[in-house]
Amino acid sequence: MLSPMQLSKKIQGNDSSQRINYLYQISKKVVEKNPVLSAYYGNLAVSVAKKNVLKIHPDIKRQLCKKCRCMLIDKKSAKVKIKNKKKTKYIQVTCNTCKMTKYFPANKGNNHRLWLENPEAIVEIVN
Ligand SMILES: [Zn+2]
Repeated sequence: MLSPMQLSKKIQGNDSSQRINYLYQISKKVVEKNPVLSAYYGNLAVSVAKKNVLKIHPDIKRQLCKKCRCMLIDKKSAKVKIKNKKKTKYIQVTCNTCKMTKYFPANKGNNHRLWLENPEAIVEIVN
């Protein structure tokens, strides 16, 4: 893990979309031990995106709590349930930090866990 100094240098030194990816990964990394810190990085990622009029990748967006911006990871920081409504599958995600619940339709034929661990949105891995 990088020191906070190295980390902020790394965050400052990259373009905005890379910065968002870093923040996203850091947020994900710390969520189990420190959901408050995770929410802090989540908020930073969102504000960097807003400042630069960037769209956050939908996979990242899904993993952020709407309310506290904490990273939502099944069994770690959130509860994920599958609900059936009129032949449509819904994923219900409840944030353990602020108890906010959100729903979205499950993709057909997709395992509901896929989006939680989708590496597509990641540009570079922080070590
Ligand atoms: Zn939350």
